[in-house]
Amino acid sequence: MNARILPGSFRTAAFDSLAMIAVLVVIAVLVAAFGSNGMQRVVTGAAITLTAVMGLQVFCGNTGIVSFGHSAFVGIGAYVTGILTLPLAVQKTALGQLPAFLAGWELSLHAALIAVILVLLVMGFLSGLPLLRLNGSGAAIMTLAFLIIIYTCLVATRDITRGAQPFYGVPRNVGLWGAVALGAASIAVARFWRDSRQGLSARACAEDERGANAAGIDQRGPRISAWVLSAVLCGLAGGMKAQFIGAFSPADFYFSLSFTLLAMLIVGGMGSVLGAFSGVILTTLIIEIVRRFEGGFEAFGLKIPAMFGLTEGALAIAMLLVILRRPSGLFGARELFLGRPQDPALPPATPAPAARPREVEGEIVVKDLHRHYAGVAAVDGIDLRFDARQITGIIGPNGAGKTTLLNLISGDAIPSQGSVSPGVPISAHSACAFARAGIARTFQNLRIFPSMTLLENVMVAALTVEPTLAAAEAAALRELDRMGLRADASRIASTLAYGPRRRLEIARALALKPRFLLLDEPAAGMNAVETAELVAILSQVRAERGIGIILIEHDMRLVMTLCERIIVVARGRVIADGVPADIQSDPAVIEAYLGSRRKRKTQEIQQQGV
Ligand code: ATP
Repeated sequence: MNARILPGSFRTAAFDSLAMIAVLVVIAVLVAAFGSNGMQRVVTGAAITLTAVMGLQVFCGNTGIVSFGHSAFVGIGAYVTGILTLPLAVQKTALGQLPAFLAGWELSLHAALIAVILVLLVMGFLSGLPLLRLNGSGAAIMTLAFLIIIYTCLVATRDITRGAQPFYGVPRNVGLWGAVALGAASIAVARFWRDSRQGLSARACAEDERGANAAGIDQRGPRISAWVLSAVLCGLAGGMKAQFIGAFSPADFYFSLSFTLLAMLIVGGMGSVLGAFSGVILTTLIIEIVRRFEGGFEAFGLKIPAMFGLTEGALAIAMLLVILRRPSGLFGARELFLGRPQDPALPPATPAPAARPREVEGEIVVKDLHRHYAGVAAVDGIDLRFDARQITGIIGPNGAGKTTLLNLISGDAIPSQGSVSPGVPISAHSACAFARAGIARTFQNLRIFPSMTLLENVMVAALTVEPTLAAAEAAALRELDRMGLRADASRIASTLAYGPRRRLEIARALALKPRFLLLDEPAAGMNAVETAELVAILSQVRAERGIGIILIEHDMRLVMTLCERIIVVARGRVIADGVPADIQSDPAVIEAYLGSRRKRKTQEIQQQGV
């Protein structure tokens, strides 16, 4: 049992948050001590905007979906706060037709902000449901539709919001320190969430959804929680804004605000809290400088007339220049990573447990399995049983249906007919459910999470079976250690060479503590030394953990050395099944291989026009 309560990543998140909060506080202290009233208002407004941008970062930065809709949450927060804190005298004149359940509250700011949180929890959840079915541009368009719907509602509900007219008379109780306090809290929330169970899972899904499913992650949970949390942060920013500016209208929370928030996030770098933080500082500076020229100015004897919208134009240019040079923003996915243990000083991994905590009993039973693709019978009626203590090799010529069979066994493909029973009840046929049921896999075309560290890559899978983040971190370190990758735990996965990437994917699969490990061409792209290392590692894994291994491989030497049972597949069917010695001399197998070689040769000759 690991003695640590917090994982190293949370310690790093704490240091990072403190560093950014310190910068925010220093700016606030300097402005409070030496700045004009106008300057103090600029910093107060920026701190409120920072809260909204942190909210946006929680969603966009972790799920990879660009949202145009978060300014709507700011608007909802502002109107809820405005209505609930409006002095009764003002309410009577400005909102004479207010429905009874909203009339007569006159709450304090704090009470109103609690109401904002509750409203946004409900609205965030309901509005986030469509996101569970959408991806990429579809999801982005949904956020745009959401913005338009909320704007229309704010304008249409005149009795509650005064429609397009200014909503005025809100008490102005928000000052510099209140805004800075909320901004600081939002930094910490965003930074900790990034490294939380949900944050790690959301990032993994954004990087590679199939890979994440194979690690037992269902993207719906992390995505909706990111959406709801971001809605709450934006709503709080709206509540503060209401009591900062005192009067507003629906147009203040429409496209212009949406664009400004996105510009801030994109300039700094959507993928990191540091990027969001620096984006707010930088773009606020740009806005404040450009605003001075908006009313017209004189340069070199030339009189430049007033140009309204100059600030947005300048922001757009800044955004364009940044993404041309650095497509992922100034900081991309880079955090400060303060206090992160360097490679040699990583916390010592506890020795691997002698016995596997999960039961090893059970087998995979495949019955009358078919999978058709547009007339091609990739798998054409296969019946098999896989023992949970055996290393089974699946071989066959190219296009025989091996990968499709593996995809079906791992829940990654849905059978056209027949069934796969992994030995535990599975309500929904999904890769994620199969992974959670103890069937882990790797892919022929690697599916690691390239922008995440090696430790994070393995931790996301370990989180599926470990109770806490600290336990998942310790388990991930153990698996990295086994694969000879522990010294590189803090490295970004995209910087790895091909061989270590394959080992990383195996480490991720093993972190699920599986009953079966399914490997699709694990030695592909590896040199002879790396292949020999892989054979040693897999033999050790089997000996230590007693799990079933099913592997597809074209390297016959590896198959014959490692496997106790070999299944030969050709044209979607099993043509031989037995121990290596029998398979080698099976006439059907020889014919299948020779036949496919002959066919290839004939095709080559035909292509050459001979
Ligand atoms: P290889 O050894 O070259 O990886 P394989 O034995 O793994 O081949 P599969 O990848 O399972 O073979 O493919 C079997 C057949 O099914 C092939 O004809 C392939 O083109 C077809 N197939 C596989 N997946 C799909 C898909 N998603 N859509 C259409 N056809 C597919």
